[in-house]
Amino acid sequence: MNNYYTASVPNRRNWPSLSGDLSADVAIVGAGMTGAATAVELAERGYQVVLLDAKQVGWGATGRNGGQVTGSLSGDNAMLKQLRKTQGDAAADFIWNLRWRGHDIINERVKRYNINCDLKTGHLFTAWSDADLPEFESMVNEAHRRGMQDSVSLLSKQEVHERLDTPLYCGAILNTKNLHLHSLKLCLGEAIAAESLGATIYENTPVHDVQMPTGKPVQLITDSGTVQAQQVVLAGNAYHRLMRRQLAGYLFPATLGNMVTAKLGQDLCQQINRDDNAVYDSRMVLDYFRITQDGRLMFGGGTNYSGTEISDVAAMLRPSMEKTFPALKDIPIDFAWTGSAGIIINRIPMLGRIQDRVYYAQGYSGHGMATSHILAEILGTAISGSLHEIDTFNDFWRWRIPVPTAAGSGLVALGMKYFKLKEQLGQR
Ligand SMILES: Cc1cc2nc3c(=O)[nH]c(=O)nc-3n(C[C@H](O)[C@H](O)[C@H](O)COP(=O)(O)OP(=O)(O)OC[C@H]3O[C@@H](n4cnc5c(N)ncnc54)[C@H](O)[C@@H]3O)c2cc1C
Repeated sequence: MNNYYTASVPNRRNWPSLSGDLSADVAIVGAGMTGAATAVELAERGYQVVLLDAKQVGWGATGRNGGQVTGSLSGDNAMLKQLRKTQGDAAADFIWNLRWRGHDIINERVKRYNINCDLKTGHLFTAWSDADLPEFESMVNEAHRRGMQDSVSLLSKQEVHERLDTPLYCGAILNTKNLHLHSLKLCLGEAIAAESLGATIYENTPVHDVQMPTGKPVQLITDSGTVQAQQVVLAGNAYHRLMRRQLAGYLFPATLGNMVTAKLGQDLCQQINRDDNAVYDSRMVLDYFRITQDGRLMFGGGTNYSGTEISDVAAMLRPSMEKTFPALKDIPIDFAWTGSAGIIINRIPMLGRIQDRVYYAQGYSGHGMATSHILAEILGTAISGSLHEIDTFNDFWRWRIPVPTAAGSGLVALGMKYFKLKEQLGQR
């Protein structure tokens, strides 16, 4: 079955593949959300940008995801623990502000470049069990203490069931600042915005090697030409294998499934999800869903941390979907697909630089829509000379497992099984 996102952009913009040799101020490898958002950041600052993708703009996780833009910053606890040692109490403020920065960038960019990406607001973080409620309460208290009284509230079980036609969940956090959208349309919109500012885009152009000759520009090698650039940004996330000496052993691809039902009609949409919120639950391997612009349910979940393909996504997800919404029993599934997300062991997104000439941003552990925009902004400021924030990320300690990627993914999968078992036994 094919992907809803590509099917719902029938007249998408296509770009040529690279042919010949060219030069640029900055070359970006990978035109997902990280690459496209970075291209806008840099083009807005006046840099001459070349953006290359092995396949197409938005082909990777960006054009396959749940479309939820939330304040869930992967690795936040690990970051806080490390930053506290040097920044004290300021660390908590830094992390808190980071959480919401991506929302502002996306809202502003959609407005400025008039990007039609079916943008909506409203999100429910649902409690899978009563044991989640004390933590939910403290999260809401923290949000209120930091001035988010108008956008964050705690819902009781009954209040959740007024909004969702489901027997599941014991409560929820309602967040009206969080967004949901058509992620491929956003990515294409940002690529077109970057192009309008002078960026050049090439599709079907895999970069095979990045060379850093002393005293000369960085060289990107492709089958059909080369790009010489003063600086390079690697934005291939779980799909790239470049600069293995510096980057191998940190990021492990996980396979995530996603599917979309047949059109439900307005009444059924309203019945199952009264306020049209995006939703995910509190489990370690969670389900996530939302209603699309054309009135279908998009339902994802079932992360395969070993990174191997899921053979029948619809068959895997249907039981969870029907358990969530019994009213959708036997509903046809029109689209089902998988995508790769980059998992980092302690979940801290990888943002850093190699010799001041090659930058990388990757590994958002399934929470990349807001994070990609935040890191793109930090990359923009770093390349323009302000290194403070990128070095904060560069200096975070991360696990490095010196084994081939497949073996590392196997270890990550084993670890996740252990934590999932603990969760099922109520020992979280
Ligand atoms: C099924 C699924 C559901 C998800 N749901 C959500 C969600 O609801 N909310 C959320 O915040 N996050 C979600 N995520 C995570 C989110 O999609 C990613 O974190 C985000 O899209 C990463 O963007 P990216 O640009 O870094 O990588 P990608 O979108 O994966 O893009 C990488 C690009 O690099 C290109 N590339 C790779 N290697 C090369 C090379 N050598 N040369 C040229 N090009 C190359 C690829 O072709 C690809 O287009 C989900 C992920 C998946 C898979």
